[in-house]
Amino acid sequence: MNSMEECPYFSKTVHVYPTPVPSTKELIKSRIKYLESQDRTDAFVVVDLGQAFLKLKQWRQHLPRVRPFYAMKCNPDVEFCNFLAQAGVGFDCASMGEVKQILSLGVHPSRIVFANPCKFLKHLCYAQVQGVDLMTFDDVFELIKIQRCFPRARLLVRIQSSKDHNATHNLNEKFGCDPIAALALLRKAKGLNLNVVGVCFHVGGLPKDPKSYTSTIKLANDVFTYGEQLGFHMHILDIGGGFHGVDSKLFTFHELAETVNKALDQYFPPSRGTEIMAEPGRYFAASSFTVAVNIMAKRVLRSAKVDNKDIDAGIETDPPSKDEGISNIYGSRSRNAILKDISNDFDNYSYKDEGEINKVLYFLNDGAFGVFSNVLTDFYVPEPKFLEPPSTTDTYSSQLWGPTCDHFDCVLRKCDLPILDIGQWLYFETMGAYSMCLATDFNAIERAKYTYVCAESFWNEVYTDSEKPGLHSYTDGLWKWFKSSSIKKQKGVLIRASMD
Ligand SMILES: *Cc1c(COP(=O)(O)O)cnc(C)c1O
Repeated sequence: MNSMEECPYFSKTVHVYPTPVPSTKELIKSRIKYLESQDRTDAFVVVDLGQAFLKLKQWRQHLPRVRPFYAMKCNPDVEFCNFLAQAGVGFDCASMGEVKQILSLGVHPSRIVFANPCKFLKHLCYAQVQGVDLMTFDDVFELIKIQRCFPRARLLVRIQSSKDHNATHNLNEKFGCDPIAALALLRKAKGLNLNVVGVCFHVGGLPKDPKSYTSTIKLANDVFTYGEQLGFHMHILDIGGGFHGVDSKLFTFHELAETVNKALDQYFPPSRGTEIMAEPGRYFAASSFTVAVNIMAKRVLRSAKVDNKDIDAGIETDPPSKDEGISNIYGSRSRNAILKDISNDFDNYSYKDEGEINKVLYFLNDGAFGVFSNVLTDFYVPEPKFLEPPSTTDTYSSQLWGPTCDHFDCVLRKCDLPILDIGQWLYFETMGAYSMCLATDFNAIERAKYTYVCAESFWNEVYTDSEKPGLHSYTDGLWKWFKSSSIKKQKGVLIRASMD
């Protein structure tokens, strides 16, 4: 039997709540209640599609000239991408697999930019067959490849971002040509009779100054002008990604957008007729995903060890799933009964001979090789949140570790927390960017399951029964968006949900 089917919360179903949606904390609690009724403690992810829609509204309000193409590598979750597709967002795909996923949603090929400057030959040919013709390049070898496989493709030359400003994740070492080299590349493209239509760049992930965009838009303008002189119909500017998923401490999205708009108006005023697009990844994904995890073990390190009486307590491993033939894993007792005994043992344990607590290590049931991969690759610092306020304000220097036996599997190396119990839940917000997409099966730890929610009003705005010819048209009419008829209707996934 498929356990997904018996569990209403982990099916590929979107729970549409009357507005306002219950708080994340309440949603998590209701799912935990369900899980615990089954003696389960699986880590899980709550995906709020409405949150992505709010981000899209904010984008359209503040960057009305810039059409977003979601960089799906950031979080390729199918339901999430489907929702964005329905809401009229385009996609930045980097491989055949990504293109396939988006096309399978019914998205028209013209709503995809193949934004990997170094493409597998096979993927390039696949794009040709499918008609995904907008793509990027930054080197002559890629041009030759394209000339052989897809000579009619519409090409964006990727330039390095301006070196006047930096970002947390600099991409210039790997991608983008020097703007001067771009001029030679454009000449080469002309010689190969290729079709260059514009310029793209990526200022890097999490830029530290909105002016990164300004100075690189200026460079793009130089390359644009040169392309025009060579006779190319330069009409697309792609300003890439980098937009923060949560406002940085240095500037808000609103401030960033103002800076970008100013630069666009200076170098690419509407009268120039340039189509402006961007490839935001983390901007859409980060705040839509919340992770809930269970503490499965802990260690208390004290300043003095007496009589080998460590209270190390690695107890519980993974919860049973009824469908895996291990339903009797706890014998005749429930998991909760065992936990209660253990907790009593702790209470009766005498610490009187032992030294002060130096540090407490908690082991979570998901970690850096699972949903917390952003800790390893994105320098993300997750912030643990409690479902109930702690009963004490006394805190200890603590660490949060993932469940595998690898020392890289650290979720949070330093934080101050009250004493927490094995079996207790923690949750972490804004976890959607470069996290679960990098999850592995390392140490054969079960992967977290997903549950989707959306506010009814947003849902109805995105998924209407009637044809929405206006859905994809931007006000200036430059963009020929495709009618929603090019998107397959979501089949029967909508259910109504209430809190009980
Ligand atoms: C990763 C990537 C993005 C998305 O970057 P974010 O920082 O998540 O916005 C956009 N464009 C390209 C080409 C990328 O490689």
